[in-house]
Amino acid sequence: MSILPPGSTLGILGGGQLGRYMAMSAQSKGYRVAVLDPQEDAPAHMVANLKLVGPYDDPESLRQLADCCDAITFEFENVPASSLEPFAAKGLAIRPGPKALASCQDRILEKTLINHCGIETAPWKPIHQAQDLAKALAELGGEGILKTSRSGYDGKGQARVKTLDDAQAAFAKFGSVACVLEGLVPFALECSVLAARDTDGHCETYPVCENAHQDHILDVTICPAAVSESSARAMRSRTALLAQELDYVGHLAVEFFVLPGGEVLVNEIAPRPHNSGHLTIDTALHSQFEQHVRCVLGWPVLPYESIQTAAAMANLLGDLWDHGEPHWERLGEFPDVRLHLYGKAKARPGRKMGHLTAWAESPLAAERLVRDARAALGSAA
Ligand code: AMP
Repeated sequence: MSILPPGSTLGILGGGQLGRYMAMSAQSKGYRVAVLDPQEDAPAHMVANLKLVGPYDDPESLRQLADCCDAITFEFENVPASSLEPFAAKGLAIRPGPKALASCQDRILEKTLINHCGIETAPWKPIHQAQDLAKALAELGGEGILKTSRSGYDGKGQARVKTLDDAQAAFAKFGSVACVLEGLVPFALECSVLAARDTDGHCETYPVCENAHQDHILDVTICPAAVSESSARAMRSRTALLAQELDYVGHLAVEFFVLPGGEVLVNEIAPRPHNSGHLTIDTALHSQFEQHVRCVLGWPVLPYESIQTAAAMANLLGDLWDHGEPHWERLGEFPDVRLHLYGKAKARPGRKMGHLTAWAESPLAAERLVRDARAALGSAA
């Protein structure tokens, strides 16, 4: 195992909250951080040692970043594969590697890889042209969810389709780009497994998190999830297997559907720290960001477990600012709840501005606490 020495520079493509926490973790170990993001006031730019403002495919910005960093990572999977070329040309460590990025940014490749490992997903069909829709829809029972193969997130690039007309209209609306049509999964729960894998191939997984969404955006995460031992074991072992299959180095999250009988299906792989892992900042000995930068910089992954019996995280979206500044003073009533804000100047509906983490003696109590604290922010005492 070869460690990049402190004092080296970590480059990060993407300057959102994930990039910001990665930067702070790396800096706490004496590394320098250079961040490329198109937005001047991106959250990670506020903490970076070197801030580069430009598009992710701008050759000059990429060259500048490649010139000043010793390893490169990214905070989102839609980085164009060509953006990694300047780093590969200089022989820099790209972690996670191009195979993981390519596989996770294209749903067709991703599902093919997952199924190839013998791991089940929702039933799905690739859609390359409008003519593929009729047969696929019939094979999936006449309804499903059409998802663009690339560039979708938080429910964008997705449409529930109940008829061939719906499917054709959605396909046209997406610009007739490659898509997948997925059968509807009657899931009981949605879960995620956080994992980190180092350059020696050691992989550590975190206890399973349970995720509740609102309007396709993660709303609340609870840990540990209310699943059986065997479902939890199945999710954690599938995550480790996928990380191995992707030659993965860094932190990832695998999202699962849990069926009413306890069977698990992989929904998707996020090749980066994940919103459902934010609670690890406060409730794990080593957060997902600490684990990510350790692995990326060549350090061994550490045991990954919670130091609290149970925890919950609630996102703070821009909607909370609809009636003015939230009542931050109300958090004084909640000593077991911690506030995180990402430094974003403008609140917009649906925009992730920050989150709350709560810990308690049971997952239910932690969930109640974090929801109560968030509700309190919306009204004066
Ligand atoms: P995704 O972007 O693929 O994670 O989808 C966003 C959300 O849509 C998921 O978290 C689920 O709540 C829902 N969803 C996605 N795919 C399916 C499916 N095949 N069946 C039922 N619900 C789904």
